[in-house]
Amino acid sequence: MTTRYWPLDRGCMVTSPFGPRDGGFHTGIDFGWPGGSAGRAVYAVQAGTVIKAGAAQGYGGPDPAGWLVIDSTDEQGSGCFEYGHIVRQVGVGATVAAGQRIGYVNPNQATNGGVAPHCHVSFWPRAYGGPEGKQDWKDKLAAAIYPGDTPPAPEPPTGIDAATLAQAMGCSLARAAEMLPGYVVAMEAAEITNVNRAAMFAAQIGHESAGLVYMEEIADGSQYEGRADLGNTQPGDGRRFKGSGPIQLTGRHNFTLFSRWAYDHGHIASPTLLVERPELVRSDPRLGFLAASWYWTVARPNINAMCDRGDLDGVTRAINGGLNGINDRRARWNRCRALGDRLLPPNDGGFLMALTDAEQRELLDGIRWLRDQFGPKLPSWGEGSSMGKTPDGKELTVRDGLAQMKRTIEGGSK
Ligand SMILES: [Zn+2]
Repeated sequence: MTTRYWPLDRGCMVTSPFGPRDGGFHTGIDFGWPGGSAGRAVYAVQAGTVIKAGAAQGYGGPDPAGWLVIDSTDEQGSGCFEYGHIVRQVGVGATVAAGQRIGYVNPNQATNGGVAPHCHVSFWPRAYGGPEGKQDWKDKLAAAIYPGDTPPAPEPPTGIDAATLAQAMGCSLARAAEMLPGYVVAMEAAEITNVNRAAMFAAQIGHESAGLVYMEEIADGSQYEGRADLGNTQPGDGRRFKGSGPIQLTGRHNFTLFSRWAYDHGHIASPTLLVERPELVRSDPRLGFLAASWYWTVARPNINAMCDRGDLDGVTRAINGGLNGINDRRARWNRCRALGDRLLPPNDGGFLMALTDAEQRELLDGIRWLRDQFGPKLPSWGEGSSMGKTPDGKELTVRDGLAQMKRTIEGGSK
């Protein structure tokens, strides 16, 4: 998250908001104290680089009195802030931190539009431009802190890391680091949402793969040749579809179903890829782990419910057919449960947090455009663009209007 600061010290107020004012339009937000703010320190709202500075009409002069503009990268919070009616203490080209002092309020009332000395701050959401591009930025003030405040510490990362996976599996840190990305994707695909499920997933995969050593069956698969119950109907299917992934997806039939599922869930580009290239389930750990996720949620859809009850024997039978290796599985289950929350998938704050502020803005703009295009008619469109009204007087959406038209045509009446 971008940390932003109020441009003046704690206790200041918005003396004039963005919007219509005195028959004109105020294209920024004014800050100050009742009675004036002459000489008060001014701070950068967000980090950036000073791209313009100097005397300017309406903002005063001569240099260094006047204004300055600070441009921010997406990582710094994006957009451009313009500070007016100030005496500058940084120059063009300077890099400033968020909350850094950049000047003070010009005490000369004549350069403050004849009103009490204050600081004016305008904002462009993207690049610096003309006055028509300035936008209200009061929403950015909502989470802003005051100069001198300590920025909030970033949320500590939660969830499984390589060291925890190494502990859970009993493997080396290097092996765990190599396997972690695919393992996390597989946990999410397997709906691992609580500690019991996470511990069981790790315990069963850990047992079946001997601690992530084996990502495929040791035997060559020829023992499955011609096994109709596995769907191995074509010559070579036994070896081709040998046990693959940490819990050994086996046979043409299961590979066919898994490939389709992996495609439907956006993990591969073609629904038959893993029938055509079954070796990928052995060579790509991500696909190997996903085969376990498929088995966990589709082939044996009761497994997570058994995990929630702590039914180790039940899950073992669902995977193994019997209780082979139950003692090792139990030891792993107990060890993994003790790792608690650390075994859960990382909480990354959801997909929005993966977007920059600018990308979030772009998404919002797109949603607004869609709403304008397909949502209810806005009053500004005028009567001619109305699709009609609902019985309770609400404007119909485009979809509602088209549906009404379709009903009219099908009904044969006007
Ligand atoms: Zn102003």
